[in-house]
This record gives sequence, C-alpha cells and structure tokens, in this order.
Amino acid sequence: MRQLYWFQTDLRLQDNPGLSAHLDANQLLLVYLWPKNRPWCNVTGIGQQRERFLLESLRELHQQLQQRGQHLLILQGSPELVIPDLVRDYRIEHVATSRTPGFYERKSLDNLRARLSIPLTVHSGNSLFRESALPFALPDLPGHFAEFRRQVASIAPAKPVPAADALPPSPVQYAAVPPIETHAPHTALPVRGGSSNGQRRLRQFIFEEQDIVDYKATRNCLDGLDGSSTLSPWLADGSLSVREVAQGISRFEQEHLRNASTEHLFMELLWREYFHWRAYQDDVNLFRLRAGKQQKRLSHCTFEPRSFARWCQGDTEYPLVNALMRQLVATGWMSNRGRQIAASCLINELALDWRYGAAFFEKHLLDYDVASNYGNWQYIAGVGADPRGGRHFNLEKQAREHDPDGLFTEKWGGRRPPQPEFVVDAADWPIQGN
Ligand SMILES: Cc1cc2nc3c(=O)[nH]c(=O)nc-3n(C[C@H](O)[C@H](O)[C@H](O)COP(=O)(O)OP(=O)(O)OC[C@H]3O[C@@H](n4cnc5c(N)ncnc54)[C@H](O)[C@@H]3O)c2cc1C
Repeated sequence: MRQLYWFQTDLRLQDNPGLSAHLDANQLLLVYLWPKNRPWCNVTGIGQQRERFLLESLRELHQQLQQRGQHLLILQGSPELVIPDLVRDYRIEHVATSRTPGFYERKSLDNLRARLSIPLTVHSGNSLFRESALPFALPDLPGHFAEFRRQVASIAPAKPVPAADALPPSPVQYAAVPPIETHAPHTALPVRGGSSNGQRRLRQFIFEEQDIVDYKATRNCLDGLDGSSTLSPWLADGSLSVREVAQGISRFEQEHLRNASTEHLFMELLWREYFHWRAYQDDVNLFRLRAGKQQKRLSHCTFEPRSFARWCQGDTEYPLVNALMRQLVATGWMSNRGRQIAASCLINELALDWRYGAAFFEKHLLDYDVASNYGNWQYIAGVGADPRGGRHFNLEKQAREHDPDGLFTEKWGGRRPPQPEFVVDAADWPIQGN
C-alpha cells in the first residue's frame, strides 16, 4: 500500500511510534509542511534564530532519511490543500501523522479528514504518557498541576521505540535538501537543531557533566546551557523525544544517584505533559484573553502599542527585563525564570494583554511550543492553571536574587537611557514653554 507520513513536531526517526507504524508500506511519501505565517497580535513571521534551528533540524532529518534511501519533501501551504494534492498525484492510499496540540492544528486536521476519501491515522507521539494510559478521560483532566501530578504518579512513561534501520522506498526520486541556514547561532547559545545535537546535549547534561545532580539549585540561571538542561529546543520540534529524556533521568537514577534535583527535572517534564494535554482540552480557549467560567476578571485588557514595542525591543524602564528581551531576540532563548519575569512585567507593570507577549515569544523562541507557551502565559496572567490567580514578580527583588552583580543586565545592554514620559507630537509643540 502507498502511504504518506506527515511530520509535524516529531522531526526524528528514533522513538517515533507514528512513523514506525507505517514501515510496512510498499512506498512511503514523507512530507513536512513549513509553518504558516499567521499575523497575530501585531507580530508576524518567525524569528531568525527559530527559523535557523528548525532548518537545521529538517536538514538532519533529511540526511538521515537519505542514508536510508528516502527523502523529505518540504512544502508550503495548508495541510488540507497540499496533502490531498499529493494523495492524488502519488496515488496514496493511507495518510498518517502524529498528533500535535493547537487550535489551528486541530482545525487543519479536521479539514484534511473531511477532504480525504482514504484513511487518516493520527498517532500520539509527543507525550510521556499515551492518552489511554492516563488515569482519567481527557475532559476530566485536573484543573491544576498538583492534582494532575498526584494522579499520574503511579504510571510510567511509555518506552521509547528504536529507529528503523530501513524504510520503505519513496515514490519521489528526489527532494531538495532544505536550504543552508544563513544565520549562525549566537555565541551566547551555540546550539544547533537536529536530533544528533539533541541527543548529544542530553548525554552531556545527564551523564557526562552530570549537571542533573545540582539542577534544582542551578535551574534559575539566566543564561542557557548554564543551569537548566536547555533541552527544550529539540523537544519542541520533536528532534528529541520526551520519553528518551525521561528514560535518561531514570537510567541516571538507577546507575548513579536519585536526589531532589533528578526528581525535580522529571517534574518539569510533567509540567510539559500537563500543558500538552491541557491544550487539547482548552482548544481555542488557549488563545482567549480570559478562559473558563470561574476565572477572575482581568483588569489588564488594553493594548498600548508604544509600551508593547518598547517591551519587545528591550527598552523599558526595567533593566533586567530589557536584558532578557534582548537575549531572546539575539539568541532565541530565555530561561524559565527570565520568561516569568518578562511575562509578569508585560502583564502587571505594562498592563498589556498577555497574548501580545505570548505572540512575541512564539516568533522568537527556539523552543516555541504552543501548549507550553500559551499555557505558561495564561498561568502568569491568572487565566489558566494557576490556583493562585496569576503571578506578579517583584522586578527589583528578582534582579537582586538572580542578577546580583548586574552582569547579565550589563552583558545584554539592559540599562537604557531614560525615555520621556509622554510623546510630544506636532499638535502639542512647543510644550516646554507653556
Ligand atoms: C511565559 C513562558 C513561556 C514559555 N514558553 C515555552 C515554550 O514555548 N516552549 C517550551 O518548551 N517551554 C516554554 N516555557 C516553559 C519553560 O520556560 C521552558 O520549558 C524552559 O525554560 C526550557 O529550558 P530547559 O530545557 O533548560 O528546561 P529545564 O528546566 O531543564 O526543564 C526540562 C524540560 O522540562 C520542560 N519544562 C520545564 N519547565 C516547564 C514549564 N514551566 N512548562 C512546561 N514545560 C516545562 C521543558 O520541556 C524543558 O525542556 C515557558 C515558560 C514561561 C514562563
């Protein structure tokens, strides 16, 4: 049977149960669709670093496929338009993909299903647990993380499946190699996409440098690769499987040591898992200013373009926030602590609609993941999973605790010249003599 496998956020061959389920095809067409540019909240396009990382992941996948006599067809366009054309042109009899959260992703899949007259199989491949292993039906997903964690404590993550040595042949003779990326990684975060780099970082963090041992104490460092695992970029595009990370932690605990840090790292994977399943449940509500019936009314619901532009450019009156935003745009990275600080500033100090901040993060983060990004923003805005109804970080205290000598702020040029409080336009001029 001629089959088509559509890669989404699972850009890997190892531990890819969706792909592995289609190795019995006579011919297998492998496709990736470049993410659509959807302007949203005054933000368009995809940041240079995020684009570079994605291209690197695609190039490596393409090379791994070539070694197995296969190709990756990279196309642009909506799945519901492109895939039916491929089905017709290559006389495909079965389409498959691995499920990924997101409202548009869900809608595309629904539209695709409606347009196809052949079977479409949707595998689950990017979570720790299979949906069938969860001790509750998805509509009964606990409203808060602590309860979720308690309920999944007794289930083990699914076991990773090995990469196939051989793949069915492709019906296409040739597919262009993804273009060479024109931008280099920033020297402050020299990481490249692709599953071998993700695997290398996993080995380095857990087994070689054993930074996992002190993770709980170091995870709030503001620079990438310094304190936390920095595995999220590979986890987000799926060039690294979350089950392999869980397996690495568990192997380290069995062979070396289990302590509060190793347990904490696993707990962070559970946060990812929680947001993953929540995003399916929340669907379009993940993008609403306020979601859910019982949520408190947000007082912040304005959009002030100048404040937003200054936050994006790292030009506010908060030096640490400026440094964080400059780090994000230059490297595609911001630590978890940094994200919390920058998000709290946008929501509380600048009183802006949280979704604008989330959209800017979406553009730039190497590890952009719809469920974790919008879920965490909702959490801080107090419209999501936070039982405390939002977080307001004291920016001065955060700077004292996490950048006591101001070196991080200095490094990223966070101290900006003071800005006038009001913009004087031609109609007001000259204001000073009055
Ligand atoms: C406003 C905001 C936006 C965010 N946007 C994203 C996003 O788009 N993509 C993303 O992967 N993470 C996001 N996070 C979560 C978190 O900041 C990153 O996962 C983490 O900083 C990645 O660094 P790391 O790999 O070194 O994490 P580690 O601390 O080493 O943790 C290991 C892994 O656990 C998961 N994890 C850790 N913390 C969280 C968390 N709070 N929520 C969900 N998963 C977590 C990640 O997969 C991470 O790679 C966001 C957090 C905030 C506050």
